[in-house]
Amino acid sequence: MESQQKYPKHYSFEFFPPRTDKGKTTIAKTLDELSKLKPAYMSCTYGAGGTTQVGTYDTVKLIVDRQQTAVPHITCIGSSKGVICNLLKTYTELGVKRVVALRGDLPQGQSDPGEFHYANELVTFIREEMGEDFGIEVACYPEVHPQAPSARADIENFKRKVGAGANCAITQYFFNIDAYFRFVDECEQSDIHIPIVPGIMPITNYTQLAKFSDLCGAEIPRWIRKRLEDYGDDLESIRAFGLDVVSELCRRLLDAGCPGLHFYTLNKHEPIVALWQRLGLKGPV
Ligand code: FAD
Repeated sequence: MESQQKYPKHYSFEFFPPRTDKGKTTIAKTLDELSKLKPAYMSCTYGAGGTTQVGTYDTVKLIVDRQQTAVPHITCIGSSKGVICNLLKTYTELGVKRVVALRGDLPQGQSDPGEFHYANELVTFIREEMGEDFGIEVACYPEVHPQAPSARADIENFKRKVGAGANCAITQYFFNIDAYFRFVDECEQSDIHIPIVPGIMPITNYTQLAKFSDLCGAEIPRWIRKRLEDYGDDLESIRAFGLDVVSELCRRLLDAGCPGLHFYTLNKHEPIVALWQRLGLKGPV
């Protein structure tokens, strides 16, 4: 963990573009509430193949309207250099100076990857287009990306993204803290020297969490899973237990010197505010 301790801590929030009118009302309120916490930035996801192009833009605009630093995600699979170039131009006009660069996953039934195959190619392209002053975040996987042939190969891929010009990384969420510590140490041994910010998933709904975790390869440890199963529909107990577990995870990460936290908000402010207060966090230093 030593290499991570030198970076100033920053806290960021991730949203997804709402699909319904109710979702649009919720996100406006969520952004208002979370803006009060003065995060370093707020990011918004982007569907692979451009499926949420308008929704992502609209959400980024809502963030900018609240005088917050907006960081759009850009996925490259199924896309082209022309499309990415236009996206970068549109975002630059909004004042965006940093993006999260990802491969994404091809939607079911689609097999043409387009002009990019992996995220490192997107990082190279963005660096060429935007120069050195533009910030590029990438994803990394302490519990190993589900399609990686091996843990070693996954770190080599992460290294390619850093070599291509990524400034900072956000991890997939995890509940096994040792996976993060080991990953960071292995990155250090592999000469990867950028902040590796833990992605934090609040626990508020077991069914949804189990579904996400199956898809993205994040393990829910048995001792957590069993308790969440026991709570059944008792959402209040799930939330109270989730707050204990996740705030303890965050506290141990911060005490060990991680360079901040990136919260997957799922467009809800209450679980994030509860964590923030439990941890006694402040905005960027
Ligand atoms: P890559 O870094 O390209 O890696 C993908 C896989 O390919 C890995 O298994 C890697 O080891 C392997 N690989 C890479 N290069 C090679 C190579 N040359 N040869 C063989 N194998 C290789 N998804 C969305 O659709 N929209 C979002 O906005 C979004 N935001 C995310 C934010 C974060 C912080 C995280 C952690 C994930 C996010 N995702 C998002 C999910 C992400 O798109 C998926 O996890 C996707 O499967 C991989 O994206 P990547 O950028 O990590 O891909």
